[in-house]
Amino acid sequence: MFILSEDSERTSGQDAQSANIDAGKAVAESVRTTLGPRGMDKMLVSDSGDVVITNDGATILDEMDIDHPAAEMLVEVAESQADDVGDGTTTAVTIAGELLSEFESLLEDDIHPTTVVQGYKEAERAALEAIDEAVVDAAVDDETLEAIVTTAMTGKSTGGVTPETLADEIVAAVRRVETDDGVDRDAISITTQPGSSAGATELIEGIVAEESPAREDVTRSVEDVSVGVLDTDLDQRDPDVDAEWQVSSRDQLDQALAAEEQHLREFAETVLETGVDVLFVTGDVNEQVAATLAREGLLVFDSVDSDTARSVAKATGASQIGDVDDLEADDFGTAESVHVESFDDDLVFVEGGGATETVTLFVRGGTGHVTDELERAIRDGVDAATQAADTGEIVPGAGATELHVAGALRERAASVEGREQLAVEAFADALDVIPRTLAQNAGQDPIDALVDLRAANEEGRAGLVQSGEDADVVDPVEEGVVDPASVKREAISSAAEAATMLARIDDVISAE
Ligand code: ADP
Ligand code: MG
Repeated sequence: MFILSEDSERTSGQDAQSANIDAGKAVAESVRTTLGPRGMDKMLVSDSGDVVITNDGATILDEMDIDHPAAEMLVEVAESQADDVGDGTTTAVTIAGELLSEFESLLEDDIHPTTVVQGYKEAERAALEAIDEAVVDAAVDDETLEAIVTTAMTGKSTGGVTPETLADEIVAAVRRVETDDGVDRDAISITTQPGSSAGATELIEGIVAEESPAREDVTRSVEDVSVGVLDTDLDQRDPDVDAEWQVSSRDQLDQALAAEEQHLREFAETVLETGVDVLFVTGDVNEQVAATLAREGLLVFDSVDSDTARSVAKATGASQIGDVDDLEADDFGTAESVHVESFDDDLVFVEGGGATETVTLFVRGGTGHVTDELERAIRDGVDAATQAADTGEIVPGAGATELHVAGALRERAASVEGREQLAVEAFADALDVIPRTLAQNAGQDPIDALVDLRAANEEGRAGLVQSGEDADVVDPVEEGVVDPASVKREAISSAAEAATMLARIDDVISAE
């Protein structure tokens, strides 16, 4: 009896399992070499020839054209890691791949997938507890945040600036937007502009946006100003003027034009009377009105992006006005300075806004490839610092936390009954992939390194800390190699989730 259409394909049992495992492992393998400070970069070329050079797990997987369903689940691990905590995408995918690898060996030993799933679940719970134990017992001060940022950024090319210099700016940005409710991550923007050395990257206390003034002949820099945000066209308010004019003589035409001009002049006057100094208009600005306003020193931007309008309003305290008739002083915000700088395109800087703290990391670099990768590095730095500042919990990096958790799981395994015990042990072995890979990417023998690291962990906290060409087994916290605890928790959880989900599948039915 056929219940499927002729075109659909079906694989079941071990074939389905091994196909899924292989696909998942292949994805993990493709990002594993980028892990850690000595991880290599990947160059991704799209079918239209665009080139992306990156060390970032989520970006690599996003750029790769993956269409195997099981492989996509690992891509989702990276995506959810990036969405929830920002950093740790390569770690999450690498662990997920290794959990699949271990799962494969367990299957070969005739352990039932359901048993593995239960064991993995048990192991995940125990792992999260072990992370709690690994949390460093110290307040998260600025120095710690800088260490968090440098750890998150090492390995990504920063175009010649040291991560330490950038860490300074990033921590300042995070502290700037910190409120009683935590870090307002959305208040930190990143804007890139190629054409200068990466060292010129700076923190702007305000907004940077790609907008041009409506007219060329305006003052491009003003200080201590009131700012209005208009969500419509800036044009004559009286629609009657557009009405048809029946003209039968030259005189009448002149009259009509004069009347219209008069109307526009009056309109410009009323705008001037509101006392506004800078206007961001999302719609069009009437040319004659723009000319009059420019003559009076008013800085007007037209066709402003709606996101920009929103952030200008938020930062300066302006209300977004939807109707020209409502334009009045009450709705204006303030800024210490607004100025336009010309790069390839004009950029407007709105600084010292009178309302919510908003900051922009203005990222510079020689070329677009440099600024793009620098932006990704900075984003990881900002995200990691936000996590650490919000939760106040950091753990040792350089593989130390994974080693600690693996050790705790092996101890726990002894008390787990039945074959699930083997799955808990397998989970512990899977976590070893992080220190092993860090060693391998640093050019060391992974087995020797793991043996040394395990021995050192018996004595106390130890990881494979790398600086320059050296890699030493020492306490990462003392060397300032630390990660947010939430990044490690999320990596383990999302990896376990994807692996157990794939482990449960024994039948793949695909329609044509
Ligand atoms: P991910 O996408 O998972 O964040 P990364 O390439 O950023 O991948 O590597 C993160 C790992 O590198 C973390 O485990 C972190 O502790 C480790 N790490 C960062 N800096 C160092 C260092 N100087 N020495 C050793 N390990 C480091
Ligand atoms: Mg990272």
